[in-house]
Amino acid sequence: MQVALPKDYARRLWRAVIEFELLAEGDRVLVGFSGGKDSSFLLYALRALQEQAPFGFELGAVHVELGFREPSDVPQLERYCQQLEIPFYLEKTQIAQVAFKQRQENPCSSCAYFRRAVVNETAVVHGYNKVALAHHHDDAVETFLMSQLYSGKLQTFLPKSHLEKTGLDVIRPLVYLREEKIKAFMATLAFRPMPSRCPLQGKTHRWKVKELIHTLTQENPFVYANLAAAMRGDGLAELWPPVPSKKTMREKHLRVMRPASEEHGSRRTSNAPKGVVFDFHSQ
Ligand code: SF4
Repeated sequence: MQVALPKDYARRLWRAVIEFELLAEGDRVLVGFSGGKDSSFLLYALRALQEQAPFGFELGAVHVELGFREPSDVPQLERYCQQLEIPFYLEKTQIAQVAFKQRQENPCSSCAYFRRAVVNETAVVHGYNKVALAHHHDDAVETFLMSQLYSGKLQTFLPKSHLEKTGLDVIRPLVYLREEKIKAFMATLAFRPMPSRCPLQGKTHRWKVKELIHTLTQENPFVYANLAAAMRGDGLAELWPPVPSKKTMREKHLRVMRPASEEHGSRRTSNAPKGVVFDFHSQ
């Protein structure tokens, strides 16, 4: 297959590769290949970068079969990898059954955790030093908002992270590409990405957050860009300090509630509460 990326796509990919130092000479990169549009694009894009790069690196793809009722179209995925001249690995698992059994209403975190573990293990077994995941810019922004809404944390995934346990680097070369652009490019290929086999498709927290951002951005075109700007750790955040420990809170209580006159002998009693603890979860 002839691989060629439009200039704008290549520019965004190289921007991420250079800014976050995602690729280097001699890397062996294993791509998590679900068969969906994003990971199919990532394979194609990395293959194109391989052609352009002034240094050499190797690619591989692993498909983790999750064990849903309808199996993956493995021959089609294998063919796509063959056309791109990328080695293909298949890992058959029962992750779906385990994750759905553990948490019927929200199996996604277990499912994603186990799937990542299988991808990482495959990388280690076959001597890859990096794992590439197909998260794009919309994913990063959605994760940023999801973390706040559902986990009370101000965070999203990083373009590059190191896994101490396995020694692998996890890289996300698509972080500067919007989902719409990936969709548009994939529509130009003969290969048709595999539809998700998961019954939760379109019903997850992520899907709700995606819809919310879309609706708000239609009302105000700056919403998406503002969220994306807030995601960068460039010191513009004005956040409350962390919740103090009980000891610190006791010291603060003494400092604030004891009138200055008391220190000089006056015994004036205060009506102020003795301890002040807020638990917003119980309200
Ligand atoms: S949507 Fe389905 S396949 Fe995706 S993480 Fe959730 S359970 Fe797993």
